[in-house]
Amino acid sequence: MSEKSLAQAIRERMQGTGKRFWAGDNISEYLTKEDKSKLIDEATTAFENVLDTLLIDRHNDPNSKGTARRLAKMYFNEIMAGRYDPRPDATAFPNDSQDRYQGMLVVRSELHSMCSHHHQPVVGIAYIGIIAAEKLIGLSKYSRIAQWCARRGTLQEELCNDIAREIEMATGAKDLGVYIQAQHGCCENRGIMAHSSLTQTTVLKGAFKDDPATKKEFFDNVKLQQDFAPR
Ligand SMILES: [Zn+2]
Repeated sequence: MSEKSLAQAIRERMQGTGKRFWAGDNISEYLTKEDKSKLIDEATTAFENVLDTLLIDRHNDPNSKGTARRLAKMYFNEIMAGRYDPRPDATAFPNDSQDRYQGMLVVRSELHSMCSHHHQPVVGIAYIGIIAAEKLIGLSKYSRIAQWCARRGTLQEELCNDIAREIEMATGAKDLGVYIQAQHGCCENRGIMAHSSLTQTTVLKGAFKDDPATKKEFFDNVKLQQDFAPR
């Protein structure tokens, strides 16, 4: 009888606790670092099978020789790392003194993600705006959190929600906005082959949603950022 794979054992553990493990979900609490390297071994074998089924001569084609392992490592360590790595540490600093910062903060973060449907790249920029609450996190943490959310199989609409939720959790801010514009390999490399596809999604909460002046200030800031660093 063949031994149960580690992937199967972890899947059963997640199923046992009712843990959802969709492409956009983080499952870091279900695996250790050692598990990850064992899973890379298992995924390598699985990718070898895929290459064999695609009738690619991975034994003699020098460019395809290490491809199965490269793919396995890339999925776990890079393009889907946000599923397996724990939430980035974002130490919050108090913002509760007399002269506390009460203005709007807008951070621009580059994103690399991929669509869950076709595993094609999604490349874009997230603009994250908050009205500072009682705590603040380091500026680089906004990007780290956004990239951690992005490094999974996602839908841009869900990614926008995920980033908003995580930023809300890390900063305690109730007034926030996330605007993403991204290009989808899914539309460019296949299907409609549209080379200038650009998709925009927005999540607005609190004053960003309810107060027209705050909403306008956010999008004015996004525009300023775009003028400063056009893409
Ligand atoms: Zn797709």
